Amino acid sequence: MKRTYLDYAATTPTDPKVVQAMAPYYTESFGNPSAVYSCGQETRLAVEAARSKVASVIGAHPDEIIFTSGGTESDNSAIKGAARASRARGNHIITTTIEHHAVLESCNTLEKEGYEITRLTTDSYGLVSPEAVRQAIGPRTILISVMHANNEVGTIQPVSEIGQIAREAGITFHTDAVQTVGHLPVNVDELKVDLLASSAHKFYGPKGVGFLYVRKGTRLDPYMTGGAQERGRRAGTENVPGIVGLAKALELANADLTGEAERQTALRDYLIAEIQARIPSVHLNGHPSRRLPNNVNVTVDFVEGEAVLLSLDMEGICASTGSACSSGSGEPSHVLTALGISPAQAHCSLRFTLGKWTTEQDARRLLEVLPPIVARLRAMSPLTGIPSPARRV
Ligand code: PLP
Repeated sequence: MKRTYLDYAATTPTDPKVVQAMAPYYTESFGNPSAVYSCGQETRLAVEAARSKVASVIGAHPDEIIFTSGGTESDNSAIKGAARASRARGNHIITTTIEHHAVLESCNTLEKEGYEITRLTTDSYGLVSPEAVRQAIGPRTILISVMHANNEVGTIQPVSEIGQIAREAGITFHTDAVQTVGHLPVNVDELKVDLLASSAHKFYGPKGVGFLYVRKGTRLDPYMTGGAQERGRRAGTENVPGIVGLAKALELANADLTGEAERQTALRDYLIAEIQARIPSVHLNGHPSRRLPNNVNVTVDFVEGEAVLLSLDMEGICASTGSACSSGSGEPSHVLTALGISPAQAHCSLRFTLGKWTTEQDARRLLEVLPPIVARLRAMSPLTGIPSPARRV
């Protein structure tokens, strides 16, 4: 059975061209970039070339890029590093209730260390109000962290407006751009961010490598210590093949950013419309237009998302009920509940995320398979017939 992969927001397959670019750095060019002999210098050059490439794609200076082990490390380093570096100036941090756990948990850790955290709620589409950010700022505020786009419902935040507010107040501004780099135009000056987190496996690069953009002059305590790599800002021998792969993947993604985003948007809207036309009582989660080109997130009343996923899997279709990290926890998605969706309805949600290898045929296959699965599960469901709980979306 041919597999239909519709979980690109969880991870993407590594592009074969990326694997090809990485391969020599596992074998012939394996030297430690810190070594003085030529085979070390060779990998040093590869790392620096990758840094320049990444910097040029996001409108940064190469010195402002720190390679990390992925999105989680980038978020942890940004938030804990910026907060700790500015402790003498204040202890208040502003974030939102719909962030990825890498941000939420970093803030929870800081709270235990005596920092005060304001967690802003969103509207029913998952949008954060820049005005609410402005009003939350106080004399002790040192950091604002608002994600660029949400990984579960795909809502794209007004990051540049929030960045403007942060800049006027002289407060460091971090954005988690893990779901947007390589998918949407990302320029650090246009977004007015000081810190930006990204991860290669979300844009057809390898897993376990990412980067953190740090605007020149931003105070940041190093998160990893024990070596002088990355100019003392991130200790540890560089993941040379991973870094080369990340840069190659970003270059490939950037070459057709707009065309691919338009193609996926059309496929996304077709899927949303057709799922709603073919299955009664389906609600779209997230914003109808300010959303990632690849994100379809729906609540299908009266059926457990997990049960649908298992049935889809038996048909060779891979999808998700929320973020990959939270599935299996049994808890309703913190993002859906933050949008005002009841825990019961949050359990009835499904996320389909498209990628550059998703075809119209894949979309048609989902539309063929999903309605009978939902009908069968609804026929067995004790919830069928109970009016669906009031929704704000
Ligand atoms: N932030 C967001 C918005 C994500 O979607 C993810 C991954 O799902 C992460 C952070 C964590 O990235 P990584 O898997 O590279 O640690």
